Amino acid sequence: MIREKSCGAVLFIKKAEETKYLLLNYAAGHWDFVKGNVESGETEKETVLRELQEETAIVNAAFLDGFKETIAYFYRRQGQTVHKEVVFFIMESKTDKVTLSFEHVGYIWLDYKHAMEKLNFRNAKDVLLKAHDFLSKKGMVKD
Ligand code: ATP
Repeated sequence: MIREKSCGAVLFIKKAEETKYLLLNYAAGHWDFVKGNVESGETEKETVLRELQEETAIVNAAFLDGFKETIAYFYRRQGQTVHKEVVFFIMESKTDKVTLSFEHVGYIWLDYKHAMEKLNFRNAKDVLLKAHDFLSKKGMVKD
């Protein structure tokens, strides 16, 4: 079986007391967080920073310590089963300006409730729930 590992980030921005999360529309159709395959020699966080820059052109975002969630799923690629693991961190962006790469067909900043509705996969919703809870405990979100 093919094994694949990606790293990504729940990227949020605080604006006038509102917290919004960034979701990308993948060409396959689903909405998900920024993420991408780990390249050889990279740490997990280096992958996230590179993917964030490649996929959104955002460079001035910062990791928040103490959050790391891993999900796993299977999918089929060219007749083969792929077991994929994705590690998510949480990052705060200072800008909402996004420049997409060819990999995605859209992006949107949404509050927690709407981001939950927009995400397609249960495990991605679980990551957002945990990220939102993490920020709530830090007093970084209102609701
Ligand atoms: P990456 O952003 O890591 O480079 P990718 O764009 O190559 O990823 P995925 O987003 O992992 O690929 O999508 C590959 C397949 O897995 C698609 O068919 C997609 O529908 C499915 N998939 C994506 N995310 C999930 C998930 N959280 N749970 C289950 N299946 C998923």
